[in-house]
Amino acid sequence: MKTIIIANRLPVKIERNGDEFDIVRSEGGLATGLGSLDTDSDIYWVGWPGIFTDDKDEKKEITKKLHAMNFHPIFLNEDQIENYYEGYSNSTIWPLCHYFFSFIEYRADYWEAYQEVNTLFCSEALQFIEENDIVWVQDYQLMLLPKKIRDKKPNANIGYFHHIPFPSYELFRVLPEREEILEGLLGADLIGFHTHDYMRHFISAIYRVLNLNCNLDEVSLDNRIVHIDAFPMGINYEQYHNAPNLPEVKEKSKLLKDSLGDREILLSVDRLDYSKGILHRLNGFEQFLENNPQYHDKVSLAMIVVPSRDTVDIYAELKAQIDQLIGDINGKYSKLGWNPIYYYYQSFSFEELIAMYDIAQIALVTPLRDGMNLVAKEYLATKCNKPGVLILSEMAGAAIELPEAIIINPNDTDQIENAILQSLNMPENEKKERLDKMQKRISRQDVKKWANDFVVELLDIKALNREILQKVVGKRQLDQIKNAYDVAESRLLLLDYDGTLAPFVKNPEDAVPSKKVIELLKKMNADSKNKVVINSGRNHQILEKWFEGLELDFAAEHGMFYKENKTWHKNIPEKIIWDEEILNIIQHTIDKTPRSFMEQKEASLVWHYRNVDVWLAELRSQQLVNALIGPCSRLNLQIVPGNKVVEIKPPEFTKGSEVLRRMDKKNYDFVLAIGDDTTDEDMFRVLPPEGVSVKVGNFSQAAKYRIPLQSSVVPFLTNLIR
Ligand code: UDP
Repeated sequence: MKTIIIANRLPVKIERNGDEFDIVRSEGGLATGLGSLDTDSDIYWVGWPGIFTDDKDEKKEITKKLHAMNFHPIFLNEDQIENYYEGYSNSTIWPLCHYFFSFIEYRADYWEAYQEVNTLFCSEALQFIEENDIVWVQDYQLMLLPKKIRDKKPNANIGYFHHIPFPSYELFRVLPEREEILEGLLGADLIGFHTHDYMRHFISAIYRVLNLNCNLDEVSLDNRIVHIDAFPMGINYEQYHNAPNLPEVKEKSKLLKDSLGDREILLSVDRLDYSKGILHRLNGFEQFLENNPQYHDKVSLAMIVVPSRDTVDIYAELKAQIDQLIGDINGKYSKLGWNPIYYYYQSFSFEELIAMYDIAQIALVTPLRDGMNLVAKEYLATKCNKPGVLILSEMAGAAIELPEAIIINPNDTDQIENAILQSLNMPENEKKERLDKMQKRISRQDVKKWANDFVVELLDIKALNREILQKVVGKRQLDQIKNAYDVAESRLLLLDYDGTLAPFVKNPEDAVPSKKVIELLKKMNADSKNKVVINSGRNHQILEKWFEGLELDFAAEHGMFYKENKTWHKNIPEKIIWDEEILNIIQHTIDKTPRSFMEQKEASLVWHYRNVDVWLAELRSQQLVNALIGPCSRLNLQIVPGNKVVEIKPPEFTKGSEVLRRMDKKNYDFVLAIGDDTTDEDMFRVLPPEGVSVKVGNFSQAAKYRIPLQSSVVPFLTNLIR
């Protein structure tokens, strides 16, 4: 078994050295986390090596060198990088996921390149993927890849991690390729996000865009479940915590202290990006200077901005605005020997960055949106000598794990000013207390744990999916069931109706049995060894009407009524007179929920919401159940939430009680129950150990077998009785 990491970039730096190439591993957070996976398996990386070449020999040489490190390069040309990477990934998806709606560029050539490169990654990766390998796809540049791999390797273990935010459905829906992107991701078994908020948005997009059923954190597909979870990414805590005491860092810290003087240093570190809120932060700092002259000459902001994409217009403009604003602030407030802002538009080495973290008393991390923000965690980890204060934007994923930071809204200049004042005046013991708590948490949730948690969960889901697959009725399972059927002398065949023999339709009145179903039932019934029972939640009048002329047995209204030897029997003495309070509660729910309606049967009341918006339906069904608990327990009635319904009925009779009644009366040597709804599980649970329970649709623990699609039910039964 291997672990194959597929990411846009390989964790290497390649430099030309005459005719040769020098290859150096770059130890980013991801590479460190994955490098420390608790696994005996080899780890392979697949990705772009970050260098352009059209020369075959050069490619060969680079590939050979990289293969020796278990890295496999995917060579992209400049057009591909421009359209797939700078284009679709960074000019469409990035602004979309960071809520910069007006920056989103829609271009057909971007999308084409994105598909093309994802396909290229797939064909390259397929050369390595074997049964049982773990494939872990990283980030928004490769969202189509999970499905592409799944199409070729249906049994692969595929995980996907989204390192940036996932936006609310209302924003995500604007993307023309929203379906393709979501379908691409659902090729994975496990989809990970940094926080539960991104998870929530993703799940909402799944059911709204793709109209798929989600059960909490799971999406049920035909033959597998996709699990969605939050895994907040950590850092290599020990490395950062120990770094300030390295001699080369100590030296740099001293140099910095000498040059910045004995002042309080606020530090900010970002890549040049509009999502980082750099201008907002500068405005906040300026307001602080304006309103608090007593801190002039005592406080400076050290602002590191790492160059990024500054040839792209939006970024070049941002850079110009930052330069201008810093110039204005420094021009206005500087004094001899003191600058309010020290500005570094450059990349820092690890040692230099640690020295900065070390000497800064306050970190000002105020992105407008950020998937996680590792700088915040790195700053905290580095504070091993003196405590520091973290001011953190609530829009950063890290804020969820770091409530002891001073949490601010980065759009609110007053809050930035007040947070700076609060930090400057915070007592030392409070700083230490807050820091200790945060350090404890991030030292536990480090990047190694992040990677391991993800892989362990991926393997668990895979095992569950294997179990699910075992249950799906294919040839082997059909043979098993058919063998038992063929040798049996006396068979009880219990068939649910809606969602099993008939598809789930918009209007329940339209679910009339098809000719095929009638033909099938006739054939099943013609065999004298068979007792065929339609065990339905429907009322007996409609069953009688729909199956007129067929000499079938029935159970209606969840076992309240049954038909045997051509006669209907009632399990309740008389029609229930429904309590006014209950009727009013349901009517109130209907008034507040367009497209929902009530059905009154003789022995049960049903609130239907199959055509209601999913979110509203969930809210109202929960409110309805809550409102009904009191009166129903007083009147000894059962509340049964089912497939797009909430039903109220006396508790004594269920679909299961009907099965028990029939099995009590006669010995059957083959009992089959098939159904799609939660109420059908009452049948499954009372079957004898050798009974055959078949769940239609989603996976159910209670059933031995599963038929994912309702349309496969008639073919299955036809094959069974053939
Ligand atoms: N970083 C760096 N050199 C610098 C400044 C920052 O290597 O001069 C690193 C920093 O240590 C951190 C990463 O860049 O690990 C930034 O990660 P973050 O999650 O904060 O933001 P991103 O750039 O991924 O949006």
